[in-house]
Amino acid sequence: MSDCLFCKIGAAKIPAKLVYQDEEIFAFEDISPQAPTHILICPRRHIEKLGDAAAADALLLGRLQLVAAQLAAQRNLTDGYRTVVNNGAGAGQSVFHLHLHLLGGRLMRWPPG
Ligand code: 5GP
Ligand code: ZN
Repeated sequence: MSDCLFCKIGAAKIPAKLVYQDEEIFAFEDISPQAPTHILICPRRHIEKLGDAAAADALLLGRLQLVAAQLAAQRNLTDGYRTVVNNGAGAGQSVFHLHLHLLGGRLMRWPPG
C-alpha cells in the first residue's frame, strides 16, 4: 500500500533500524521505545489490523510470534518479555499496518494501561 508508513519501511523507502527480515516478515526498532528492547514485527503484506486477518493468515500470525521469541532469545531477555498487538484506535493502534510489539529489558506491569 503506497501511503502506509510501515509498507514504506518494509520497502526501504523510509529508513529504520532493521533487526530481522525474510520473504514475509520484517522487524525494526521502534522510534519511540517504551522499554530497553522495543521492536515492531510486521508482515510485508499490508494487513490493516489483526481483526482483518483471515484463516489463511494463521501461519503468518504464528510466525510473527516466533520471530519475536527468536529476537528475545538473541537479546537474552531471560527475565521475561511481552508481545502486544494493539487492534484499533481504542486499543492504542496508531499505525494501521498490523504489527507485533516486542517489549523487554524492564519490569512489565499488569494490567497494561
Ligand atoms: P501502535 O500504536 O500502532 O500499536 O504502534 C505504532 C508504533 O510505531 C509506536 O510504538 C510508534 O512509536 C512507532 N512508530 C511510529 N512511527 C514510526 C517511524 O517512523 N519509525 C519507527 N521505527 N517507528 C515508528
Ligand atoms: Zn502497510
